[in-house]
Amino acid sequence: MRRLRKTKIVATLGPSSSDAETVEKLHLAGADVFRLNFSHGEASDHKSRYDIIRNLEKKVGRPIGILADLQGPKIRVGRFAAGSIELKKGTKFRLDLKDTDGDINRVSLPHPKVMASLEEGTDLLLDDGKLKLCVSKAGSDYVDCEVIIGGKLSDRKGVNIPNTIVNMSPLTDKDRRDLDYALELGVDWVALSFVQRAEDIAEIKKIVAGRAGVMAKIEKPTAVENLDGIIELSDAIMVARGDLGVEIPLQEVPSIQKLIIGKAKEAGKPVVVATQMLESMITSPVPTRAEVTDVANAIYDGADAVMLSAESAAGDYPIEAVTMMSDIAVETEKDPNYRKIMEAKHGSLEATTADAISAAASQVAHTISASAIVTYTTSGSTALRASRERGDTTVLALTPSIHTARRLALAWGLHCVHTKDAENFAEMVEKACNTCFKEGFARPGDRIVIMAGVPFGTPGSTNILRIAWVGEKPLS
Ligand code: PEP
Repeated sequence: MRRLRKTKIVATLGPSSSDAETVEKLHLAGADVFRLNFSHGEASDHKSRYDIIRNLEKKVGRPIGILADLQGPKIRVGRFAAGSIELKKGTKFRLDLKDTDGDINRVSLPHPKVMASLEEGTDLLLDDGKLKLCVSKAGSDYVDCEVIIGGKLSDRKGVNIPNTIVNMSPLTDKDRRDLDYALELGVDWVALSFVQRAEDIAEIKKIVAGRAGVMAKIEKPTAVENLDGIIELSDAIMVARGDLGVEIPLQEVPSIQKLIIGKAKEAGKPVVVATQMLESMITSPVPTRAEVTDVANAIYDGADAVMLSAESAAGDYPIEAVTMMSDIAVETEKDPNYRKIMEAKHGSLEATTADAISAAASQVAHTISASAIVTYTTSGSTALRASRERGDTTVLALTPSIHTARRLALAWGLHCVHTKDAENFAEMVEKACNTCFKEGFARPGDRIVIMAGVPFGTPGSTNILRIAWVGEKPLS
């Protein structure tokens, strides 16, 4: 199955999309990677979705990526005796560590480390930023706050503390259990929520130990401040605009999105733009013009992937949302301006053979109008450098590792094929030509560009650039 776009689509699975038939339709409509959201559902729900995807993979013969998104240390207030209260602007309200139901004067904030990090003047945003408190006095096991923006506050609502580094592990006990479970299932990516520092990524990477790629969700101002270090340690990045838009003024989200995409792209790490991309399609079969433009703008920014959350997980039109996203990507990528932007934003090359050959392959393919570039890759690192080129020719990543093929499904412009490594030069050329033909990227008489490494099968050895003709009778 050949996609007509280079930007990838991540679709979250949920109650609207958990049967085999719907998952297949989502994949055929354009979903390249499926997201299992561990903030919702039981382990058995995730296992069932995981199995459905892997069975689908066998049926369609294409590698499909699976991303496990861990909930992270979401901070919540406790419960109220009456279920909710109405907070009035200018009044006092206490948050404390007591394990009792709240009332109009106080509620529990059952996170000792968070409590310890609050000081006079700290702002707290509640219920996705709808309410705002400011700490006026910080005790050892309570804080007194002034209500800056009032409203209804009900049981277990979320709390965001934008500009404070909270001294807590980014992995809660639940996250550790979910992570072990997801790795046992065999997911390809794990996303870590509420990352604050590069050390948070180091912590999860120790546990993951290479069994999946680690994606950092950027949704806190502190993560934006520590962006370079976080990108350096992560395997991929998500612009998690939901919480980001609560933690920073909304009007700053677009420039931060561009900053994150630019830096991730420069580093050659896949970057996903997430949340509210086609939000109105949760209940409507057509999106708003503004949403269509938002998806297109993320693509013009050079994102590797665009993501659907509730639209595909809990909406009334999951298939239509994926189809729409795919149509927007196809159309945007046809725009000559898109090409010009990708060329103008070309990153600087590292002094490595992988970068030198990737850049040359892209240039050669463009010059001779080659139908495809083929890269042989084991770990996937050369393929990611080829993707980073953002060239106009699709890159087929041929790999003997199914894990690499699935992981690379997230990366811009890569069409991954799980196949045995070539054993010699002649086989390398023949396999590349046959695969391009079989996968629908080249016809007899077309030229392709091949990148490979000798000795064959040695990771990091990319050192060959070859132009080949697809013969009159390629094997199908
Ligand atoms: C987000 O906040 O944008 C996001 C993707 O995370 P979640 O859906 O887990 O809130």
